[in-house]
Amino acid sequence: MSAKILPIKIYPDKILRQKAAKINRLDKKIQRLILDMGKTMLAKEGAGLAAPQVGESIRLIVVNTKNGVLAMINPKITRRSWSKEPGEEGCLSLPDIIGQVKRSKKIKVIYYNEDNKQIKLSAAGLFARVIQHEVDHLNGVLFIDYLKKKGLPAKFREQTLR
Ligand SMILES: [Zn+2]
Repeated sequence: MSAKILPIKIYPDKILRQKAAKINRLDKKIQRLILDMGKTMLAKEGAGLAAPQVGESIRLIVVNTKNGVLAMINPKITRRSWSKEPGEEGCLSLPDIIGQVKRSKKIKVIYYNEDNKQIKLSAAGLFARVIQHEVDHLNGVLFIDYLKKKGLPAKFREQTLR
């Protein structure tokens, strides 16, 4: 079976605010979801995609890299540089808005790949930014939470709690 493009959950869908569950078993369903999320991300020209954005509240993200789709299972950011930089972000779940978000310039992340192998990775710049944005999704955090409420369109204001 070939991968399919999945519908994207749009804000304020409740799943976007849930803390996603850890993945305990890398079964066929997860393998399948990785392929579908990769295809969906590429089709929508996203820099990354988190499982809650396609309706699965589990700790899985995919990132669009120059080497192709990188899947990260149970990703955990273990270090964030003190030094931050602003950068423009958007989100497939928030189609009408972009904003400047300050993120750590460099991070270290630990995750499992599709072969259930534990990987430790250092990331910088845009790559680090995308991972931080996607891992936030697994904790119910959206990039609008970092923006000044005043600058947000009214429909995004009420639920911006952080
Ligand atoms: Zn997003």
